[in-house]
Formats: sequence, structure tokens, C-alpha cells
Amino acid sequence: MAKLKGWKELPIGAVVLEPGSSAENKTGTWRSQRPVRDEEKCTHCMICWVYCPDSAVIVKDGKVQGFDYDYCKGCGICAHECPVKVEAHAITGKPGKVIQMVGEV
Ligand code: SF4
Ligand code: SF4
Repeated sequence: MAKLKGWKELPIGAVVLEPGSSAENKTGTWRSQRPVRDEEKCTHCMICWVYCPDSAVIVKDGKVQGFDYDYCKGCGICAHECPVKVEAHAITGKPGKVIQMVGEV
């Protein structure tokens, strides 16, 4: 992890002075859980992509490819909103949704 700035290096009030700062602030460093997707059962409905507040769901040619773990903060919204249920998730083995949250190792 990058070294945190001291208080003397931050602007007063820690206000953001430059646009586009989200490219530098990788929210993935906050994460305690990560989403995992059952690729076989995913219907590519894009609900997870619509709801992700960090634009961390990677989509290519109209298909979900996975998650950008540099920016996924592990909020679990995608897993909560995913409408497709599975009897046994390919990765976790648990019943529930196509996206499930697992603890960071
Ligand atoms: S919400 Fe669930 S089923 Fe829909 S694209 Fe995302 S992972 Fe696939
Ligand atoms: S856990 Fe949150 S930040 Fe990560 S992909 Fe899902 S909705 Fe986006």
C-alpha cells in the first residue's frame, strides 16, 4: 500500500482540488470482502454493472468479465442485487446468488 500523506501534506480541510482523483484513489484497499461470480450461471443481465457504485464490474462486448479489484470496495451491492439464484455456487459451493461475497485472505 502507498504511504499515507501526513496532515501537513494535505490541503486544508482535505478538500479535493483536482478533477479525476478517483483514478488515483483505489478503493480496493478498503475491502474486507470480495465478490465472486459463478461464470456458468451468470445471465449477463447487467444488474450488477448498473448498481456498482465504483464502476468495478468489468464488461466487454455486452458480457460481464469479472471485477476490477483495484476499485471494488467490497460493499456487496452487486451480490445483493444479482437476481439469479444458484443451488450451489461454483466457487463457494453455497446456495444463493450468482455473485457471492467471500472474505479477503
Ligand atoms: S447481476 Fe448476476 S446474473 Fe446479472 S450480470 Fe451480474 S452476475 Fe450475472
Ligand atoms: S462489491 Fe460493491 S464495489 Fe465491488 S463490484 Fe460489487 S457493487 Fe461494485
